[in-house]
Amino acid sequence: MKAIALILAALAGTASAADCGPDKLNTERTIILKREGAAYGALQHSALPLKKGEVVLTFDDGPSPENTPLVLKALSDQCAKATFFLVGQNITQNPELARREVSEGHSAGIHSDTHPNLGSLSPEQQLEDLKRSRAAYKAVFGVETPAYRFPFLAETPTMLEALKQANITVASIDMGINDWIPEDTTAILAQRLKDSLDKSGSGIILMHDANGPTAKALPTLLQVLKDKGYKVVHLEWQ
Ligand SMILES: [Zn+2]
Repeated sequence: MKAIALILAALAGTASAADCGPDKLNTERTIILKREGAAYGALQHSALPLKKGEVVLTFDDGPSPENTPLVLKALSDQCAKATFFLVGQNITQNPELARREVSEGHSAGIHSDTHPNLGSLSPEQQLEDLKRSRAAYKAVFGVETPAYRFPFLAETPTMLEALKQANITVASIDMGINDWIPEDTTAILAQRLKDSLDKSGSGIILMHDANGPTAKALPTLLQVLKDKGYKVVHLEWQ
């Protein structure tokens, strides 16, 4: 039975690769980062080694049973790989969906346990949130998280030091689309993406797979990237 399952999996892999022709956005290349206490994203740290026109797709706040499957489908339809920054409590509530993200070739890090503004918590509470989110990740994936994105990008000295000690990479951003307003339409989000791309030219894009309008708009957003000639770079960790 196991052999048959492996053959079927291999065939499925071949079939999807064959569909990823030049009419798709695709994934141009993969950068494999070391597991170390580094920090990336030019908004707060040093930029990733990207060429002009290269972007990294990242999605925060999931997994969301309502919206993440739409995001996974849009990415799969365009053969594009992304990195998901998961909230610990959402991992625990949706372990299968979290595993599905990784089994479909995406990478995953954590984005706190309960999405607090860590700056409003005591150092002990910050470290407790980190501990819980790392445990939630490890329980589902069997390995330590390689990366962390701060909720609201609100960094604290306590957390930066703890992440460094734990060899967890801080993943900040280069650009976003401010996708948190429930009334946002696909056209509005597409325009914000175009504006951000024109301004930044390359880098890590922050989006939210837990946000309904983003999930709905993603096919259009990926088409914007393709039409403007941007190349997707996928982040993975050793
Ligand atoms: Zn968030």
